[in-house]
Amino acid sequence: MRDNLDIKIKSIQISTEAIPLRTPFVTALRRVENVEFVRVKLTCNNGFFAYGEAPATKAITGEDLESIVSSIASAKNSLLGLELLEALHVLHVSAIGSSAKAALDMAIVSLKAQEKKQSLLQYFGAKDFSPIKTDVTISLNDADTMLQDAQKAYENGFDILKVKLGGDIVHAVNVTKTIAEKIPQAKLLIDANQAWSLEASLEYVEAVKSLHVSLIEQPVAADDLESLKKITQKSTIPILADEAVFTLEDVKKVYENGSADMINIKLMKCGGLSKAQEILAFAREKNISCMLGSMLEGPTSISVAYALCFAYRDVVKYIDLDSPLLYKQTPKILGEFVIIRNTIQSGFC
Ligand SMILES: [Mg+2]
Repeated sequence: MRDNLDIKIKSIQISTEAIPLRTPFVTALRRVENVEFVRVKLTCNNGFFAYGEAPATKAITGEDLESIVSSIASAKNSLLGLELLEALHVLHVSAIGSSAKAALDMAIVSLKAQEKKQSLLQYFGAKDFSPIKTDVTISLNDADTMLQDAQKAYENGFDILKVKLGGDIVHAVNVTKTIAEKIPQAKLLIDANQAWSLEASLEYVEAVKSLHVSLIEQPVAADDLESLKKITQKSTIPILADEAVFTLEDVKKVYENGSADMINIKLMKCGGLSKAQEILAFAREKNISCMLGSMLEGPTSISVAYALCFAYRDVVKYIDLDSPLLYKQTPKILGEFVIIRNTIQSGFC
């Protein structure tokens, strides 16, 4: 007999939330001053409830707050009254956007864990509870400001720096050289957010090859897998695909074509925890190193992503879940986790 056969989704509430940032977040694609996101609360007929969240990231997933709210509202009627597994199936065959799916998916998966009387860490099979470290983002700015931001972050204990670069390749090389020389102990993760051409990417790769750069993320346009492959073949620094990989199918394509060395998995791109698990299982099988990343997100979606990092630490080599560190007030406790600077500890420590 199946346990909890009667657990069904009874209500879905939707709200929009905003959290102010300490300083504006700037990349090649956008500039924002608040984290704005949609929050859903799913309640079951036995009283269990769980939250999910999706931020507005129009530049990446094409969804803004309004479209996420209307997507969730449109999916609501088809989910109410369903058991959890059935709800997950119905959700993922629906045509709504990946962020809206992610919010609902993470709430349903959290309810699945509750149904099994497990924390999310237990549900995902985490065994090693030693602390994990997230990177912290250095926003795109003039070179002096970026160096100052990087030095300040490093002095405050953040030793993995995600450096956002833009289309000006002279600036990009200059910033990389300056930060690499002035902060030799920091790990540098370079993110171009699709801002470069093939030629500019190759120029950059050549110019920084002797520096301690840990990886270069999404140098060219998301759909230009051929250029990405050429850069990957030429570069001695690992190339990481971000905007080029949303779904498991995208990941398989990049892997099979040898278009990148690594992939960046984000809940908002793939459609939530259950889909991220499928990608992580594939990465584990094929030995693909991953970054577990995020958009600028609310506390719930970040904390459930932390749980995945603990459970898949064999393939998750870099963790880019620094949104709470960028809030005006960083929370000390986030779901099952404790944040101390850039270190995330589980409640099981
Ligand atoms: Mg990126």
